[in-house]
Order: sequence, then structure tokens, then C-alpha cells
Amino acid sequence: MIVVEDLHRHFGAFRAVDGASLEIKTGSITGLIGPNGAGKTTLFNVIAGRLKPTSGRVLMDGEDISGLEPHQLFAKGLLRTFQIAHEFGSMTVRENLMMVPGGQSGESLWNAWFNRGRVAQEEAALRKKADEVLEFLTISHIADEKAGNISGGQKKLVELGRTMMVDAKIVFLDEVGAGVNRTLLNTIGDAIVRLNKERGYTFCLIEHDMDFIQRLCDPVIVMAEGKVLAQGTVAEVKSDERVIEAYLGT
Ligand code: ADP
Repeated sequence: MIVVEDLHRHFGAFRAVDGASLEIKTGSITGLIGPNGAGKTTLFNVIAGRLKPTSGRVLMDGEDISGLEPHQLFAKGLLRTFQIAHEFGSMTVRENLMMVPGGQSGESLWNAWFNRGRVAQEEAALRKKADEVLEFLTISHIADEKAGNISGGQKKLVELGRTMMVDAKIVFLDEVGAGVNRTLLNTIGDAIVRLNKERGYTFCLIEHDMDFIQRLCDPVIVMAEGKVLAQGTVAEVKSDERVIEAYLGT
């Protein structure tokens, strides 16, 4: 689904991504690991349109998507989860989900005044969809909580839920495990596996928790110093000398 060809992203003289080439296969849950400073986040940011590449290409299903804006990638079904912004913390979890799909007629003042019936209908449909998403993620009980009051792990689930409000094909997830307790981490892991198996989502995730990676990801891509160092199953990359050296070197 995604092919990254000889990608570079430099900051001044510093080569954060320094000729990375990799593939993310359709239907896979691909893990991206590597020591701190390896360039994983920068690579994510380039693929997801937040940063322009210095050189190199990103292809999605054969189409060159290098340098497209996040909203253009969103329309193609390429999504990166993003944290619930501070200003949305006072809205409920359900409202946070309902806000995701753009373009509903409620956004235009004209429609709001002259087409109230249709706006109400769309809102009801969105609400229904949001409630289905919450049920899928087993967090219906927090639908009416303020998003600012839920736990870190629940926030991660809501972030994942936002991708379900639109037709996502591939989702880039950044460190779902950080600061999340085991029980919720398992819930998140289950949701990822079910989205992959039942809804055909492809995933690419950056993660430090090796148990989590081992449980979910095949293959795993290892980055170090801006380049792809190795690729394979967790067992394969763990026993790879170059990978061990890269981790020990930091
Ligand atoms: P990782 O996610 O693997 O820890 P990052 O992509 O965050 O690595 O960072 C790779 C390197 O690029 C780091 O040394 C970081 O300091 C540097 N870097 C990241 N973003 C910038 C930036 N905007 N300006 C300058 N250097 C940056």
C-alpha cells in the first residue's frame, strides 16, 4: 500500500531521515522501531503530510503522494492519529467523534437556517455512527464524559475511534503504549487487531513496548540514524547483530 523510496528529510545539515526505503503491505500491522533519534517520528510526519520531504518519494497504491497536505491524504484514507487538542477537552467524547467527518451541511450557516431538517438528520446519523464506534471500542460508558477528564489510555482509544468515523485505509499510530496501563493497552491492542481483521485497516505503528509489538506486528521495520536497518519478525530483528548494536550504541 505504501512504498517509501530513498526518503530524505534534513533539518539544516542534520539528516533526521537519511535515505529510508521501506514498504508497508496492504493488510499488515507493521511496527516501526528503533532507538531514540532514529528518525521514526520524522518519517511519520513526512508520510502523513506534516513535513515536506527533502528528497525521495512516498507512493500510495502506486500514486505519488509525496508532499501532499494532511487533508488531501485524509481524503485518500491515509490518517495519522492526533491527540485530542486542549480546546476540545471540554467537549464530550461523543462530540469529539462527531466532529471528525468534514463537509456535513451543518457547517454552513445557510444550511443551518434554511435546511434544518437535513442538518438534524445528518447529526442523528453522525451520533449513531459515533455510538457504534464507541461500542466497537468497548468504551460506550464514557460517551458523555468530557474528553479532558478521561484517562490517557481512553484518549488513545478515542483517537483510534476518530479514524473509524471516516473511511480509513491506513492508519499511522504513534506510541499508543506510552503511559497506558496493561488492561487498557490490551483493549487498544484488541481494537487494532479487530480493525485490521474485520475492517481491513492497514496499520503502521511506532512503539517502544516490545511485548505490544511482538503481539501485534508483522513485520517490524527497524530504523537507526535515519535509515532502515532491518526488517522481519520480532524474533528475527531481535537476534540481528546490527539491531543489537544500534540499540546498545545509544
Ligand atoms: P525518533 O522518533 O526515532 O525518536 P525523530 O524523528 O523524533 O526520532 O528525531 C530524529 C532526529 O531529528 C533527532 O535527533 C531530532 O532531534 C531531530 N529533529 C527532529 N525534528 C527536528 C526539527 N524540527 N528540527 C531539527 N531537528 C529535528
